Amino acid sequence: MNTNTQQNLMEKIVALCKRRGFIFPGSEIYGGLGGTWDYGPLGVLLKKNLKDIWWKEMVQLRSDIVGVDAAIMMNPKAWEASGHVEAFTDPLVECKICHSRLRADKQDEIKDHELSHNGKKVEWTEPQQFNLLVKAYLGVIEGKQSEIFLRGEITNGVHVNFRNVIDSTRVRIPFGIAQVGKAFRNEITPGNFTFRSREFEQMEVQFYIKPEEKEGEKWFEYWKQNRMDFYLSLGINKDNLRFRDHAPDERAHYAKAATDIEYNAPFGWSEFMGIHHRGDWDLSRHQKYSGQDMSFRDPFTSESYIPWDIETSAGVDRSVLFLLIDAYFETEDGRVVMKLSPKIAPFKAAVFPLLANKPELVEKARGIYESLKVKMMVAWDDRGNIGKRYASQDEAGTPFCITVDFDTLKDESVTVRDRDSATQERIKISDLDNYLLTKIF
Ligand code: ATP
Repeated sequence: MNTNTQQNLMEKIVALCKRRGFIFPGSEIYGGLGGTWDYGPLGVLLKKNLKDIWWKEMVQLRSDIVGVDAAIMMNPKAWEASGHVEAFTDPLVECKICHSRLRADKQDEIKDHELSHNGKKVEWTEPQQFNLLVKAYLGVIEGKQSEIFLRGEITNGVHVNFRNVIDSTRVRIPFGIAQVGKAFRNEITPGNFTFRSREFEQMEVQFYIKPEEKEGEKWFEYWKQNRMDFYLSLGINKDNLRFRDHAPDERAHYAKAATDIEYNAPFGWSEFMGIHHRGDWDLSRHQKYSGQDMSFRDPFTSESYIPWDIETSAGVDRSVLFLLIDAYFETEDGRVVMKLSPKIAPFKAAVFPLLANKPELVEKARGIYESLKVKMMVAWDDRGNIGKRYASQDEAGTPFCITVDFDTLKDESVTVRDRDSATQERIKISDLDNYLLTKIF
């Protein structure tokens, strides 16, 4: 695709998202708020399906990962411990090669950093007086005493609960803690639709292992492949996915190794999740700053140690955006078909009475709609002709359309039309549940 076509594709996706209720600009009637987005009736279902599948794979189907849901507002000391307060205050500039952020007034550090790029020409963003952590005030008095931060990443809420989790469950190293939730960043340049937002959601597992090099390598490789397989299982074209290892000079201060999974977006290959070998950085820092013991004691060997952490951190919004882009398909006559995997499609099926003014058809179709609704999200449509209804469901990504016609009243069968092949099958109403469930989940 050339640049114009790619630009065009983004515009079409943004327009489709608004027109069909996937994603709207945040607080639009007041002129919006930069870097915020609201998910509409279709978008909320798509996003929820993604998070539910993720949670099912990470927590429900595994015996070595448990979940938490930590508070967005944390004691500010947690952000001192994690290094965010120190790193994100004062006049900051950002290195355009590795995205390290440094104080603009520390010329020595700037020079050292430039040298670390081995002769590459280093460009910097303009200095900004900003804090990547979003500040809020808690309590009735505004000021330093009541200043807190909305979390800049969800990781901290997991690490501060490490002790609580090992004390309250039967987990043993290696084990993981999963969390899904909102994060907030004062991004200097939000953009590319939801790609860089100021409020977004993350899905993460912090996977704690023995602090041994071999274990680190083994689990790092395991999680890389596991996450790639996850996105392939959601139907993303494998040619549009790749790993990108971080060069040593590009890694965050805590990272022993880091790899991104990138998507071939219309605006270039872009990160939507990372796998990070964080070593014992987080637990050691929280131990130091809180004074609490963050070590794990092996009940069999009595060994005691601060575990290492292999983190998988994915952006929910970026994943949703790339699922939408990947699913976008135009027919020769210019219609849009969102070829979303049935697993994540907002509606799994739509039910139509062939004619809206024939009560016997409407009643029969309503019955099917009501009974399917208990098991899955089902849409109802009785407007216009069947062709228009198919086109509308194709745009919404609904994989199956079910039509009740006059034959249904005689043979208790319906026509099921497949979104991607546009083929139609006659299915007995009594077999419908089974037919759909095996194709969808
Ligand atoms: P970037 O380099 O693009 O700013 P990052 O490396 O800072 O991203 P992480 O801190 O590793 O991102 O966060 C993990 C994941 O959270 C990212 O892979 C991404 O999917 C998501 N994420 C981070 N920042 C944003 C943002 N501003 N908007 C939407 N998603 C984000």
